[in-house]
Amino acid sequence: LKSMLKDPSLLVTQAYINGQWVDGAKGTFAVSNPARGDVIAEVADLSRAQVAQAIAAAEAAQKDWVRLTGKERAVILRRWFELMIENADDLGKILSAEQGKPLAEAVGEIGYGASFIEFFGEEAKRIYGETIPGHQRDKRIMVLKQPIGVAASITPWNFPNAMITRKAGPALAAGCAFVARPASETPLSALVLGVLAERAGLPAGVLNIVPSSSASEIGKEFCENPVVRKLTFTGSTEVGRILLRQSAEQVMKCSMELGGNAPFIVFDDADLDAAVEGAMLCKFRNNGQTCVCANRIYVQAGVYDAFAAKLKVAVEKLNVGDGLTEGVTTGPLISAEAVAKVEEHLQDVTAHGGQVLTGGKRHALGGTFYEPTVVTGVTQDMKVAQEETFGPLAPLFKFEDEDQVIAMANDTIFGLASYFYAKDLSRVYKVAEALEYGIVGVNTGIISTEVGPFGGVKQSGLGREGSHHGIEDYLEMKYICLSV
Ligand code: ADP
Repeated sequence: LKSMLKDPSLLVTQAYINGQWVDGAKGTFAVSNPARGDVIAEVADLSRAQVAQAIAAAEAAQKDWVRLTGKERAVILRRWFELMIENADDLGKILSAEQGKPLAEAVGEIGYGASFIEFFGEEAKRIYGETIPGHQRDKRIMVLKQPIGVAASITPWNFPNAMITRKAGPALAAGCAFVARPASETPLSALVLGVLAERAGLPAGVLNIVPSSSASEIGKEFCENPVVRKLTFTGSTEVGRILLRQSAEQVMKCSMELGGNAPFIVFDDADLDAAVEGAMLCKFRNNGQTCVCANRIYVQAGVYDAFAAKLKVAVEKLNVGDGLTEGVTTGPLISAEAVAKVEEHLQDVTAHGGQVLTGGKRHALGGTFYEPTVVTGVTQDMKVAQEETFGPLAPLFKFEDEDQVIAMANDTIFGLASYFYAKDLSRVYKVAEALEYGIVGVNTGIISTEVGPFGGVKQSGLGREGSHHGIEDYLEMKYICLSV
């Protein structure tokens, strides 16, 4: 991997604590390339005590960081953003090698991830408070917005860069210090952010990156250490619940970006070609491994067969292979368990009368490669209707009318992203309002951007990331009542 990089010094395997690169007290853990299965790096495996040191360093550094003006923080964040863009090819290669997504998609993620640093750096100058007319003649009321303090993050492997920047950007802009525990599958993409932050002039201790093979141990330290005032997590609803329970002890503020079960609805009046294009991006991006990927595709009866036929053609054009190979559109799945989940959902569909239209088995390449798959005749009583597949399985459900599909779409504990394709204006309004989701894509399959508030309702989470709202998760309000 090092030999593929323009700047080999970007590949680091030590942890980043208080501006120092340190070894792990527990030795190292292996990071492998999911396309080839070979070990590409041995990364520092930190102990809980080392994570406590990182938290202490963050506490000390935050005191000076918060004293900078918004503009001073913005200048450093801007430089950090620029360094990510300048090194996007190398960062993309590191990301693709440890995560498996095609290089073009990986470089795309770097641009997306960097945009949060750019955007929130700009927002650092606009953390406005408020004055409120007093309730008595001698009273003056002010509202200050102040950083929460030390924020800690736990992030998944599917977006190893962007899931960290989306949290670190607003946290640092707000004046918080940050401790990031990356997923153990993808620590290299996190550590390189530390290299670039250091080059950008971020003061020591403001950002700490603490890889560890034991997620639950670090999760406990984050929840039990009284210095940590904010926990921000992206991952499964199951682990989110554990962290919420643990953080209750300290009544810690939490942001949670949890699982989804996105419906993708195609109405009779939709532009079918556009709907197929949207479904392809929405379902097969990152090989189906995003929390906003279409999990259930509902197609109205009048266009069901036509949509299925067009989707089959598009799916059969996907080129499965090693993400670092030119022309590959679809990489491997992250792990054997991920493949097992796809197989479990597919078996359940076929056992209950669904049919495989294309794909439907492990790919000839072996390993964790799986054929992009479309199944028809899928119904609400199948597993895929309730659980997130997180893989390249597109299940097509048939529906008759609006009320029916809204009820089916909302019949889940999740409420992150939803999508629908339609032209009729009153239908567009009615359906957009009725979907119980934090995000609704109308005639588009891609909704992620740093300028929009991303987040879920119901058991998909708490808080919003991105947009000017995203910084609020890292700010506390203080009300000052002054008698003059
Ligand atoms: P995913 O399916 O995306 O891996 P998980 O919720 O299992 O979703 O994992 C998301 C992140 O949470 C990963 O970095 C994982 O290591 C971490 N994690 C898993 N279990 C725990 C836990 N008990 N406490 C803290 N972090 C955890």
